Amino acid sequence: MKKTKLKLKKNVWIALGGALVLIVAIFIGVKVYQTVQYHKTNEYKLLELGYTEDEIQLLEDCLTEEEVTTLASTDKDEFLLELLQDPYFIKDYLSRYQTYHTENEGKTARQVVSTVNTNTDYAYYDYNLDTDTNQDYLMIVNKYYHLDSSYQPNDLVNISNQYYYGEGHQIRKVVYDAFVDMWNQAKKDGIYFIVNSSYRTYAEQQSVYDGYKNSYGTTYADSIAARPGYSEHQTGLSLDIFSTEYTTTSNFKGSPAYEWLVNNAYKYGFIQRYKEDTEELTGFSEEAWHWRYVGVEVATYLHEHDITFDEYYAYFILNG
Ligand SMILES: [Zn+2]
Repeated sequence: MKKTKLKLKKNVWIALGGALVLIVAIFIGVKVYQTVQYHKTNEYKLLELGYTEDEIQLLEDCLTEEEVTTLASTDKDEFLLELLQDPYFIKDYLSRYQTYHTENEGKTARQVVSTVNTNTDYAYYDYNLDTDTNQDYLMIVNKYYHLDSSYQPNDLVNISNQYYYGEGHQIRKVVYDAFVDMWNQAKKDGIYFIVNSSYRTYAEQQSVYDGYKNSYGTTYADSIAARPGYSEHQTGLSLDIFSTEYTTTSNFKGSPAYEWLVNNAYKYGFIQRYKEDTEELTGFSEEAWHWRYVGVEVATYLHEHDITFDEYYAYFILNG
């Protein structure tokens, strides 16, 4: 009896020992399996490539799983990380950013994003888009977005000859009201603005452009005037502004009147549409006299962040 009991006890111990060995083996097996599986994950592969955990998170937030998988099988892409962290990065343009970068190695991520967002990776007048006039005073017109020949604003008002040499010049009412407010404030500061150009019809722009083209050819005409449909003056939202003392395109930039506009126009909803060093993005060389109405909110944003309206439009209006 005693012997049987002992034998039973021994068997229990053997059984327990066996179970323990089995549990440890399963545990190790699971761990090994998990490790093998983890090594197959994008996270592991990306860590191995030198991405930090924050960078991996950024990739996973911005890219599809398929894109992350592709990325995990190549070298670390520093430029892509810079693109993803750009404040105006637009996901839909990723392949265009990458193509443009490949063709223009020296450009920074900031330049690549700005270029593609403003379509300037395409040739002027080649990539034709219709201006969305439903955007009202935030509509865009440049060397890509154009108005058709029939577009005419429906709230044009006459500009008093107090502000314009001559009669019969028109602008949209929302712009006129803002301009008059601005004019009155400038007057208090001893500055007298005078408008030199305002709303222009498609036909008027056609005759301006054709005049240059017929005399000097297309290249010269394109350098000095917008093609019909591509002039912002057809929107009725742009004014060419000088002062009574500084009246030419060559002397206006250095004037106190210009300085006043730079510091104050945004408070009335106006922006200098073609600033120094923005030709690559706007398609137009600097024009100190050409002021565009976009409303106070957008004008203030552009003033504070120093980006072009073309960039603003791509990021906040088109893809916002
Ligand atoms: Zn102008």
